[in-house]
Amino acid sequence: MNQFKRKRILVTGGAGFLGSHLCRTLLDQGNEVICADNFYTGTKDNIIPMLYHPQFEVIRHDITIPLYVEVDEIYNLACPASPIHYQFDPVQTTKTSVHGAINMLGLTRRLKAKIFQASTSEVYGDPHVHPQTEEYCGNVNPVGLRACYDEGKRCAETLFFDYYRQFQLPIKVARIFNTYGPHMHPNDGRVISNFIIQALLNRPITIFGDGSQTRSFCYVDDLIRAFVDFMASPNDFPGPVNLGNPEEFTIAELAHLIIELTGTKSMIEYQPLPSDDPTQRCPDIRLAKEKLGWEPQVPLRSGLLKTIEYFEERIRHAALT
Ligand code: NAD
Ligand code: UDP
Ligand code: UDP
Repeated sequence: MNQFKRKRILVTGGAGFLGSHLCRTLLDQGNEVICADNFYTGTKDNIIPMLYHPQFEVIRHDITIPLYVEVDEIYNLACPASPIHYQFDPVQTTKTSVHGAINMLGLTRRLKAKIFQASTSEVYGDPHVHPQTEEYCGNVNPVGLRACYDEGKRCAETLFFDYYRQFQLPIKVARIFNTYGPHMHPNDGRVISNFIIQALLNRPITIFGDGSQTRSFCYVDDLIRAFVDFMASPNDFPGPVNLGNPEEFTIAELAHLIIELTGTKSMIEYQPLPSDDPTQRCPDIRLAKEKLGWEPQVPLRSGLLKTIEYFEERIRHAALT
């Protein structure tokens, strides 16, 4: 890339699942990347291959505390994303979303930079509209177990849009639906990592409830492409925009597919459904298609095969060390 076009980019949460893939993509495009992470759920393993890259820098930093760096763009991804992790310290989860958003927006304002926010399909709660469009305002229980995450992310969206209206800040708010792939945390309880690890270890596959609840799963490479395209889109398109794969599966279908692809001997074990677990979730991605020309390309089967390969390697490595 021409050195005059090279940007300096801050990625908060850059040592996490999505953040580490994003850092790699931005580096490959010739940019300088600063990864700010407090390593709450992220790991150095995810960023080790980039540590000696001359354009890559890591700062151990909690975004609830102000941050002074000089950058052209900010991707704000810092926040635990899986129910087990965000419910472990719910007060900190809300602080990360809300105080973190204020600090990153203040930084963006001082720098006259551009900022991307990793929001979530959880802003729709347990939706009454299906599939979910961006106009739908959601059905969130403000005092439930998921509220620390859902309401924190909703408040962050409010802050982003008020900075947009009040200070004309260029913002990019993406509502991300369930995403999977290499670098997922093996112990964060998310359904794809759980099922794959259980299958590879021939342990029971734990379906919560009767398995009829639905989710749609986007492969990480498709999602990161959308992040970068969205950031590059005109400033008069702040979002919010849904990013996810609209192919919908029941959790039972997912379990059977992973059993088939791994050839496991695992049996299915039914466990109680956690409270506030949404029964249906599927994005309407017409806006992303229209504004960004984006749609996912990786079918679930191929994405799962790559993810299975990643976890096989991790299990082999853990057995050797
Ligand atoms: P992750 O847990 O792997 O990554 C989050 C990263 O943020 C970790 O590296 C963690 O250490 C860091 N972090 C947490 N709190 C922090 C703080 N206060 N200061 C600095 N760093 C902090 O999760 P992920 O799946 O990579 O998710 C990234 C973002 O995308 C999150 O904001 C999440 O809400 C959003 N998102 C993810 C999904 C998904 O399916 N993966 C879906 C919707 C939204
Ligand atoms: N902030 C930051 N880095 C900066 C500038 C601001 O972390 O480079 C934080 C600062 O702590 C402040 C917050 O961003 O509390 C919001 O800043 P803003 O300028 O929007 O409002 P302020 O509260 O300073 O009036
Ligand atoms: N789930 C499951 N077994 C597991 C983990 C999750 O049946 O071992 C279910 C969970 O109850 C939910 C769905 O799979 O209905 C997706 O869960 P995940 O935690 O991955 O994401 P989210 O609920 O935030 O969409």
